[in-house]
Amino acid sequence: MGYAHRLDGGRRIKLNDFDAGADSGLKHEEAAAATQRIVAELIELQELLAATRQQSVLVILQGRDTSGKDGTIRNVTGPLNSQSCSVASFRAPSTEELAHDFLWRIHAQTPPAGQIRIFNRSHYEDVLVVRVHDLAPKDVWRKRYDHINAFERMLTDSGTIVLKFYLHISKHEQKQRLLERERDPLKSWKLSVGDWKERELWDDYTAAYEDALNHCSTTNAPWHIVPADKKWFRNLAVAEALRDALKPLKKEWVEKLDELGRNEKKVIDEYRRGHNHSG
Ligand code: AMP
Ligand code: MG
Repeated sequence: MGYAHRLDGGRRIKLNDFDAGADSGLKHEEAAAATQRIVAELIELQELLAATRQQSVLVILQGRDTSGKDGTIRNVTGPLNSQSCSVASFRAPSTEELAHDFLWRIHAQTPPAGQIRIFNRSHYEDVLVVRVHDLAPKDVWRKRYDHINAFERMLTDSGTIVLKFYLHISKHEQKQRLLERERDPLKSWKLSVGDWKERELWDDYTAAYEDALNHCSTTNAPWHIVPADKKWFRNLAVAEALRDALKPLKKEWVEKLDELGRNEKKVIDEYRRGHNHSG
């Protein structure tokens, strides 16, 4: 069992049943050290993923305002090689994007083979903020759960490893973080009255998140509920889930690279035999 709660659709969940402050009894320093070790493993796995170019990885981060999507990106995937790891952030759609189906702008950002892409928000906003704020009629967003499942199935059938994380913070912790932004000049760029307004809709978002987690947790593209009140535990839980998803492929990747290397070595040897006069 990992630190994040992996959902694969077997049972319906309620968010209240999950402790946002969970830390598995770890201390901050231990968790930070463990995260560093896992990130080092991730760097190695990323190199193999990029070299073999057989799979890609899509990490979807969702969560309420202040839940730590930016912090997770900075701490967990920030240290990875930026030649093959990048972030796509989704804000309110443009007029052009709105003139297409909701997955159009999303599909344009999915990772090519060999690459890791982090989604900071995603197509799930189309069943979250859109639902809570009535930005589309119910009979439109209701059908999107099936569209999302089919889309994600298509991605995983095409060699993309899809991991989805809901960063679970408590209402109390969110208040602390919003107030902290007002006190800290380095965080004040994130201030938005919208965040306080969204907070009033806490229960509506809870219902929308529960439906998204319950309708779209599949074995091929599982959701993970990440206890996120403690930032250091959140980082560890996400890093671990990512490492655990990639590590089973390591053997296959190493063998593939070994085979590629041996084949190329043969070509070099033949080349040398043909040119042995030139030294
Ligand atoms: P931030 O993550 O703070 O940069 O804010 C991005 C904003 O874009 C959030 O308020 C999201 O709810 C909003 N957003 C993202 N995707 C959509 C969408 N599909 N429809 C409407 N609003 C969206
Ligand atoms: Mg914001």
